[in-house]
Amino acid sequence: MNSKINKIIEYLTKLQGIGPRQATRLALDLASWNKMDLKDFGDALRDMRNGPIFCRQCFNFAENELCSVCSNPKRDKFKIAVVEKITDINAVEQTGIYDGVYHVLGGAISPSNGQNGLKISELIKRVHMLSNEPGITSDNIEIIAATSPNTYGETTAIYLTEKLKPLGVRVTRLAQGLSAGSSIEYSDEVTLSHALKHRR
Ligand SMILES: [Zn+2]
Repeated sequence: MNSKINKIIEYLTKLQGIGPRQATRLALDLASWNKMDLKDFGDALRDMRNGPIFCRQCFNFAENELCSVCSNPKRDKFKIAVVEKITDINAVEQTGIYDGVYHVLGGAISPSNGQNGLKISELIKRVHMLSNEPGITSDNIEIIAATSPNTYGETTAIYLTEKLKPLGVRVTRLAQGLSAGSSIEYSDEVTLSHALKHRR
């Protein structure tokens, strides 16, 4: 094997879900690209760390400090849908009926990883800050546990409820009807709209 290709394979295998065989296939594909595309790809990789990638408040993708949702004054910042992944935001936005903001946890609580890397303390801090805003009482704040309707998502929702209820905020959960074991990301608009409207 060529040492340059080996280097690329080494990096590709660092990606989630990519094994050595897949990495080799991807590296061979890259090797067939023309020089211009490879250069642009290299530039894009290098620029990735210049400037923000994630919203400092909700951890959605962002071009600036705050994402397009958090910086939109029309969105109700006292209504926060807690989702596992950024791609779940897209699914909720597709419904067109949600006017609140989001908080991306970065996954769900799992037996293997526990709460490692999840933005739970950031959420609690955020709720604290909101409840300190003038004229706001904690029951004006709604946290929607919009985690996936599977075991890990449910565990996470229960944990969030236990953590947030003592702060006096309203914690709601998407209504049932989302197919069990699935993910918010793959729920269709009609089902997800229904689950949002009938949350409790
Ligand atoms: Zn944001």
